[in-house]
Amino acid sequence: MAATHDFEQMWRDLAPVGRSATSGGYHRQPWTSAETELRHWFMEECAARGLAVETDGIGNQVAWWEPAGTSGGSGVLTGSHLDSVLDGGAYDGPLGVVSALAAVDRLRERGFEPVRPLGIGVFVEEEGSRFGRACLGSRLATGATTWDAARELRDRDGVFLADAVEAAGLDPSAGLLSLDRVGTFVELHVEQGRDLVDREVAVGLASEIWPHGRWRFDFAGEANHAGTTRMEDRRDPMLTYAMTALAANKQARLSGQRATFGRIAVEPNGTNAVPSLVTAWLDARASSDDALAELVAAIERQADDRAGRDGTALTVTAESVSGSVAFDPDLAARLAALGDWPVIPTQAGHDAGILSDAGIPTAMVFVRNPTGVSHSPDEHAETADCLAGVDALADVLAELAGA
Ligand SMILES: [Zn+2]
Repeated sequence: MAATHDFEQMWRDLAPVGRSATSGGYHRQPWTSAETELRHWFMEECAARGLAVETDGIGNQVAWWEPAGTSGGSGVLTGSHLDSVLDGGAYDGPLGVVSALAAVDRLRERGFEPVRPLGIGVFVEEEGSRFGRACLGSRLATGATTWDAARELRDRDGVFLADAVEAAGLDPSAGLLSLDRVGTFVELHVEQGRDLVDREVAVGLASEIWPHGRWRFDFAGEANHAGTTRMEDRRDPMLTYAMTALAANKQARLSGQRATFGRIAVEPNGTNAVPSLVTAWLDARASSDDALAELVAAIERQADDRAGRDGTALTVTAESVSGSVAFDPDLAARLAALGDWPVIPTQAGHDAGILSDAGIPTAMVFVRNPTGVSHSPDEHAETADCLAGVDALADVLAELAGA
């Protein structure tokens, strides 16, 4: 058996994978060589711990620790994801997987033996950075999305999901991960905000995930010459888009919610041409389902008004919308008591939300992020806080799998 690596060694091993030499950010898009390397890394780390990894047809992975004497019944799953957004940080996702492995080590050092099976899982394409569907791996595993619906998704280069999965050496016909034996799910994650900083604690638990979604705004106008077309004769979709981005920001500020246009595509994308089409993706999040619907409707209304004045046409398509997730309050209260940890909400989506929606009692452990920055190369957590997170996760798993 190979030697197991401690938290800091695993962190060092992962550091170069998919890292941009220029920005220092991570490009770990699913079904790329970087992500395949991470999948193999996970298998090696599990093998070093004597745990066999099951990889499903799309790359979701799980390894069960099930010593003789466990009940074999409903188990406790912990883990997160290894993919990143484009130019993302090191912690979002991998912290939960590395901490899960390190927590199993801690439990073994303590001489703990699980009474229930204890699994470590990795869900594929959590960020939706390649195919635009956040939490795609866990949505497929829970049945929230079907493979038949997903296989036709295309990435930015027009590659079908099914082809990307096969190109990564996986076989979608091999089926999807079964979560039948998962009685409880726990995801540890770096906090993507500053709540724990304000509270001056290293670790917290999640109460809920705000509802959130992605909407595609297609602004259609008329391509024309940037020099010879008089300003008053133009039907310029860039103007409609620009005003919509400002309106989205204002609406979100006014209501204490979140709205972001972080991605656009322009046709023909020429410096000396009035564009014919601007496609922009709105990411919106709010404290309730109604507030989210109102926010998006308000942005759409203002975009429509402006399109009328610009002579452009607007089409809005909801690409993915996730309702609010309230994590099991009894479970959160029981676990919070283990360490006197605060229970806080988050505006970020997670696989934990998908499993919770599927009826699996779920909890999240957050680790303090000193700047709150996430989805950026500057995302950071102090090692001491990460190790406190490992200890907290070990305590949580001992509580859940030990009785
Ligand atoms: Zn994440």
